[in-house]
Amino acid sequence: MPLLDKFGRQIYDLRVSVTDRCNFRCVYCRSADPENSMAEHTLLEWDEYERIVRILVGMGIRKVRVTGGEPLVRPGVEDFTGRLKRLGVQDLSMTTNGHLLVDRLDSLLAAGLDRINISLDSLNQQKFERITRTKTFDQVLAGIDAARASRLRPVKVNAVLVRGVNDDEIEAFAEFAREKDVVLRFIEFMPLDADRAWTRDLMVPAAEVYKRISAKWPLVPVAHERSETARKYRFVDGRGEIGLIAPVTQPFCGHCSRIRLTADGKLRTCLFSKDDHDLRGLLRNGATDREIGDAIGAIVDQKEKGHRINEPDFVAPSRTMVFIGG
Ligand code: SAM
Repeated sequence: MPLLDKFGRQIYDLRVSVTDRCNFRCVYCRSADPENSMAEHTLLEWDEYERIVRILVGMGIRKVRVTGGEPLVRPGVEDFTGRLKRLGVQDLSMTTNGHLLVDRLDSLLAAGLDRINISLDSLNQQKFERITRTKTFDQVLAGIDAARASRLRPVKVNAVLVRGVNDDEIEAFAEFAREKDVVLRFIEFMPLDADRAWTRDLMVPAAEVYKRISAKWPLVPVAHERSETARKYRFVDGRGEIGLIAPVTQPFCGHCSRIRLTADGKLRTCLFSKDDHDLRGLLRNGATDREIGDAIGAIVDQKEKGHRINEPDFVAPSRTMVFIGG
């Protein structure tokens, strides 16, 4: 039976956060202060994740993205990736900051990873260091090159644009996409940062990115699945692709196919959900697969029509991105 919500949207895409820990402290995501992280015993064990995903695959989930926090900081994530593949996940991807990727790529490939998204918010080393508050620029670039040299396709590179921070690099990012033959995805800054510094003025609209890039290199739209977050374009005269992810200025909630499992076992039906739903409690209190499946069905049925970022009464969720899983 497909997993449908009350608006008739089919849910087949799961984001699994395997940790809330991260070795970066990106300014648009985490606070600079050493942060409260969730208590160890609240985090799902690998067997618990596997059980939930098995139930969800039985309900029609076919795409899974492993994320965090930083997924590669949790030991055992490669083995977990293999377990997901053996459950029959058709499209298995990971979002990572790339810092640890060079050393871990072979085991991820052996585990059956299909695709990868690597975050890179500046092509300028000093600026990268200011944004991430790390000195890992060379390792991240090496991670991107290692992914390019592997069988993973497409290799997507994610850049969150913040006005006055890295919006001067839009054309440079496009050039990077062309040179490296990768998909450069420009993501609008969302009000999910730990410092609660988000304002609309800090967000760079996707339309501006399109205008600036297409003025320099003509673009052609690329077909995309309706539920995909990115509007995709290739260059008329060369390799590479860009993706524009515009949750703020062009929300794509109407075709959303996603749910999210947090590292502490909560199911979320939207990045901006006010509430999440406790699957860990069900699991640890002896619920049967049938009971968990029924609970998931009821939660999904209530999925929000859309986020409310653009409504006057919008309130940011209490969980910030790192505790949800992007
Ligand atoms: N650590 C991994 C990484 O850096 O890609 C995975 C987790 S990270 C939370 C997932 C994605 O969310 C990254 O591409 C990151 O840039 C993005 N992100 C984090 N905070 C964001 C925000 N406030 N607005 C938009 N995107 C955000």
